[in-house]
Amino acid sequence: MNTVWLGLGSNIGDRLAYIESAIEKLSGILADMQIAPIYDTIPIDYLNQSNFLNTVVRGETVLTPKELLNKTQTIEQTIGRKRITEKGPRTIDIDILVYESICATYEIDSNSYLTVPHESMHMRLFALKPLLDLNPDLVDPGDGVPWSIKAEKLSEQKVELYTR
Ligand code: ADP
Ligand code: MG
Repeated sequence: MNTVWLGLGSNIGDRLAYIESAIEKLSGILADMQIAPIYDTIPIDYLNQSNFLNTVVRGETVLTPKELLNKTQTIEQTIGRKRITEKGPRTIDIDILVYESICATYEIDSNSYLTVPHESMHMRLFALKPLLDLNPDLVDPGDGVPWSIKAEKLSEQKVELYTR
């Protein structure tokens, strides 16, 4: 079994329902799933959009990284993800943040790739904070630096605990 950490985000409609629906569907493909707290976060790449809810789930899988991406993309489509603008609003986004201690890029098709760890996660407190809630001592397998050190540099990003 391989341990994986997935980042979930939603900023359209009933954000909590989309996150909960994704968690429920992911529990069908991951064993021993653990769920971080949910955070309310301000968008950082494409600023003119609503706040996100973000969380991270950890679980065990026998799927390869590419097989896992295929499953998470199917879940995104099932939940009704609409991709209107690149980096823009979405009902649900599921990213593979970390897969064991693999550092690799896989070709998906002629113009898309899968990179693990996720190539932007070190710049995103909305990914690192819930990841660190689950595993405070986890280290970036790329450079051996703890994710907590990378998160400390992002303290200006607004990531607040979401209360229902
Ligand atoms: P983002 O999550 O960066 O806001 P998208 O979800 O629209 O944007 O990006 C989807 C594309 O990102 C997919 O086609 C996939 O091939 C690629 N991708 C690269 N690395 C990853 C990863 N670690 N997890 C999920 N998707 C990834
Ligand atoms: Mg994504």
